[in-house]
Amino acid sequence: MIEKLEQHREDFNARITVVSALRELKQLRTDFLGKKGCVSLMLKEMRSLPAEEKPQAGKHINEFKGSVESLLQAKTLELEEKSGQASVAADGFDTTLPGRGESSGSVHPVTQVMDEIISIFFSLGFSVEEGPEIETDYYNFEALNIPKDHPARDMQDTFYVNEDIVLRTHTSPVQIHVMEKQQPPLRIIAPGRVFRCDSDISHTPMFHQIEGLMVDENVSFGDLKGVMDIFLHEVFGKQTRLRFRPSFFPFTCPSAEVDIECVMCSGKGCRVCSSTGWLEILGCGMVDPAVFKFVDYDSEKWTGFAFGLGIERIAMLKYGINDIRLFFENDLRFLKQF
Ligand SMILES: [Zn+2]
Repeated sequence: MIEKLEQHREDFNARITVVSALRELKQLRTDFLGKKGCVSLMLKEMRSLPAEEKPQAGKHINEFKGSVESLLQAKTLELEEKSGQASVAADGFDTTLPGRGESSGSVHPVTQVMDEIISIFFSLGFSVEEGPEIETDYYNFEALNIPKDHPARDMQDTFYVNEDIVLRTHTSPVQIHVMEKQQPPLRIIAPGRVFRCDSDISHTPMFHQIEGLMVDENVSFGDLKGVMDIFLHEVFGKQTRLRFRPSFFPFTCPSAEVDIECVMCSGKGCRVCSSTGWLEILGCGMVDPAVFKFVDYDSEKWTGFAFGLGIERIAMLKYGINDIRLFFENDLRFLKQF
């Protein structure tokens, strides 16, 4: 009986060491601990033993049964752990890890300011127009009264694609496209990207402008002044003082630049306004009759005004940002503040 038990023990030990799957382990359990397994058979055989040998045999069989059970349990744990690790390695997905939260993004500060400006002009009856970012020399310069060799071309550092094609240096060409297609009266703004070969703390090679144009009968400089007044007070607050300074642009006459009281020092003078108390904010003027000639508008009948401003400059002043390049570095720590 004892010999037979030792035989079973050796047999079990040999089989359990080569088991590599839970399915094989289940079969091993059936063979040894099942109803017709070897432990049951030995307990049955024990009944035919002489009475004095029974207790001893029973003790050995029970001890064997206990050790088989604990070895099977240990092996089960080992195999389960292995199969878990294998599935993680196979698809790289560990279902036991906690989930990763999604943070939602925000609207870019330049887009926010652009949307605000568009909605102000929208309420004044202006509609939004768009034009191409790659322009011909004609639309970017010539039709805006800037002929070749005109010194005004030096005001802008142009990216040339070839002799006749440029990346638009301003949104003003949209004026020409619109006037070629539509007859007055018209009131439009044209927001978009513009490109200049320039890069420092207050310039980037690409930035955003909004162009505005109104043409109708009897449009005067007073109308221009009124519209700029409403617009700038809406953006910078009702108390902000404005001033119009005479200036020059080839496509408007007379031309003006509009300054606002420095938003940093309230006009006392600081580093941002170079101690003048004023900040240059936009350029504007009455449309030059020479421009109307390019689009076949009768300048005896129609008059109009145009203006253009940089969106980033407005955003910098509005939010107190001192380096324009921050807008385009895509640093989330910066962008999340708006
Ligand atoms: Zn100032």
